[in-house]
Formats: sequence, C-alpha cells, structure tokens
Amino acid sequence: MSTRLDHRNPLVFDTHELGRRPGALQRLSRTVDAPKDLGIEGVIGVPEGKPVELELRLESVMEGVLVTGTARASAEGECVRCLEPLRQEVAADFQEMFTYPDADERGRPAEPVDDEDEDILYLEDGMFDLEPVLRDAVVLALPMQPVCREDCAGLCPECGIRLDDDPDHHHDAVDIRWAALQGLADSLGTGEKDNMGGAEAGVDEKQEK
Ligand SMILES: [Zn+2]
Ligand SMILES: [Zn+2]
Repeated sequence: MSTRLDHRNPLVFDTHELGRRPGALQRLSRTVDAPKDLGIEGVIGVPEGKPVELELRLESVMEGVLVTGTARASAEGECVRCLEPLRQEVAADFQEMFTYPDADERGRPAEPVDDEDEDILYLEDGMFDLEPVLRDAVVLALPMQPVCREDCAGLCPECGIRLDDDPDHHHDAVDIRWAALQGLADSLGTGEKDNMGGAEAGVDEKQEK
C-alpha cells in the first residue's frame, strides 16, 4: 500500500468497532465538508467545503466490509440553456465492497483473472476511504445538462436575452409575410423531415403552382 489512510480525514471510516464477525452491522451518520471536484467539472458540482450529509450502513461479510449509503448535498452550476446560476439538491446512493487485504492474498491467483480485479477497494488497517466512492456516486446522480427549470426557454438567438424574463419578447425585423410563409412551411413540414431544408422545399413547391 503506497499511502496510509489518515483517520483524521472525515471521509476515512474506521471499521474496528464493527469487528470482523460476519453479519455485524453498524449505522453511521456524518456531515463532512465536500472535497475538491465533487461533481462534473465545469457543469455542476458541490462546492468544496459545503456540507455533505452521509448516511452509511456498514456490514461485515466474510471477505470485507460492505458499505451502503446515501450522500445528500446542494450542487451548484449553471443552466445549459439560459446560463443562469442554479442550485439543485442531490441525493446519491452508493454501495461498495471494501476487501480485507489478507483475505485477498489467501485466495487470489498470481495473475488477476480479469480486469475487475483492478477495481477492488481494500481496507487499510481496518479503515477505508469513502472519497472515490462518494465522487463517483455524486457524478452519476448529477445531470449532465442541468436546466434551471424543465421548460426553460433559453436565450433569444437574435439578441441573447433570457426569454423566460420576457415572454412577449420578439424582434420587429421579421417581415409579417415571411412569418406567414414560415407558418405554412411549418405545417407542410410536419410528417416530412423535421429540419429546415425539408420545410423550405415544401414552400417552394407550393409557390410554383
Ligand atoms: Zn434556464
Ligand atoms: Zn431577442
């Protein structure tokens, strides 16, 4: 083992109290400061130092300790449509097996049988580090494309104002006749291709008659 776990790290848990008798259970609640980079970089995440509420259930099994839990925190990011800051509660569930290093040495072949062996997490001196598990769970629980609300209208493509702030927003530069044609094109376009090319082709046919 390269680095020793620090029991003072709030994301390091000690299983000595739980003991090694299979079937032993321990429930823990702990509020920790969010570690760095807890989230999807540049999209949404729990800011470093903000509280993360952890509920853990430790279960002693033959080969190690099975950890099941939930992390709750408030994530911050920005709406992908209108770019407004947003805040979202996140509840991330996780389950992970931490294996006794000695149990592994006993039964393990000289070469790993498959790639899964590389994903094994070990107890070190009876302690485990929840941080990588927490990070994976939070990333999975967060939206890749967060929106401030499901029906966020985004920004005006012409001038960039936030459309939800001004529902009647429009630009007078659009010719009324063109707008009528556009409406016709939209109705002709349904059932055909959904893209603009298909819609415009429909308009041209109509005009030729
Ligand atoms: Zn938005
Ligand atoms: Zn506009």
